[in-house]
Amino acid sequence: MNKVYKIGIIKGDGIGAEIVDEAINVLDAVSSKFGFDLEYSEMLLGGAAIDETGVPLPPETIAGVKKVDAVLFGAIGGPKWDNLERHLRPETGLLGLRKEMGTFANLRPALVYDELINASTLKQEVVKGVDIMVVRELTGGIYFGEPREYSKDRAYNTMVYTREEIKRIAKVAFDIAIKRDKRVCSVDKANVLEVSQLWREVVEEVAKDYPEVELTHMYVDNAAMQLIREPKQFDVIVTGNIFGDILSDAASMLSGSIGLLPSASVGSKVGLFEPIHGSAPDIAGQGIANPIATISSAAMMLKYALNEVEAADAIDNAIKKVLADGYRTGDIGAYDAKEIVSCSEMGSIIANYISKA
Ligand code: NAD
Repeated sequence: MNKVYKIGIIKGDGIGAEIVDEAINVLDAVSSKFGFDLEYSEMLLGGAAIDETGVPLPPETIAGVKKVDAVLFGAIGGPKWDNLERHLRPETGLLGLRKEMGTFANLRPALVYDELINASTLKQEVVKGVDIMVVRELTGGIYFGEPREYSKDRAYNTMVYTREEIKRIAKVAFDIAIKRDKRVCSVDKANVLEVSQLWREVVEEVAKDYPEVELTHMYVDNAAMQLIREPKQFDVIVTGNIFGDILSDAASMLSGSIGLLPSASVGSKVGLFEPIHGSAPDIAGQGIANPIATISSAAMMLKYALNEVEAADAIDNAIKKVLADGYRTGDIGAYDAKEIVSCSEMGSIIANYISKA
């Protein structure tokens, strides 16, 4: 009998439903090809949840995500809900969901597809072949550290990491590096910050369990520069919350298109997989959104949550082939397009490539 995985589906707002539908289309193609079953249950979040239940994160969603193997998410937000009080806004629902799920590691690949190399603002020779995974600690560091205080003339935050928090994020990074090019660059500010000294010590300790992985350290200011100067030197970057926030955004722009890049938040029992872009209200309902970031997020879900690595690779290969054959949604239409296709056509073409491969 086929293995059955339970998948929570959160479409959200704006283009969310269009792009998630295409990811499901592609997931169905790989599951029948690779002999496993996916059982979907849909949950509400963000504006859609506000409209239906009055709150952005309904209790049913909190309970629902705890009963599945992984959650695939589109995007939330839009002008309709922008003027609500902060605790009722869609974004508050998403932050609450991430907290409830306890996912402490955020994985953000920065991948440059050869076929879209002209989309990058950097020179071709700098970005060709870039394939970086940024592993960002997500639930600690200065965004959460206590004490914190605002007053009119003086305000402060505290950057705190415990040995345990550093250890678990370092392990995630080394485990990923083993499946890739076996290089980890740990980014910190150990020349100035005590918290970074501890970070460095603990990462060194964890590295001893991974003798086949090469570990280097880099100060965050240098890392920001090196990402733009010579991004190909990186395989896996592991770093704390605030440094990772900034570096992962910079790294994602190496590829030049927001509609292509996936992300994963993992580390607890259930992982959350989502495109890095938002709900794009300006193009919602027009059928022109690029579903590739979400389809690629579904591939990350197969790889990191369900360990269906072959199925994940089949999706990644199909995306590359579709791009090589010149199919483009409008957002990337300016780069060597042979045919401009809609969101649903892009999903169907990728699904067909998988079924026929
Ligand atoms: P955005 O990422 O939604 O859109 C930025 C630009 O990129 C827009 O022009 C949009 O049309 C385009 N774009 C984004 N995704 C695309 C895709 N798949 N295909 C083609 N074009 C795409 O960012 P924004 O405009 O700053 O925010 C819009 C809403 O999304 C806001 O309400 C914001 O709060 C929300 N948001 C949600 C998330 C999330 O759900 N994780 C993340 C960021 C922003």
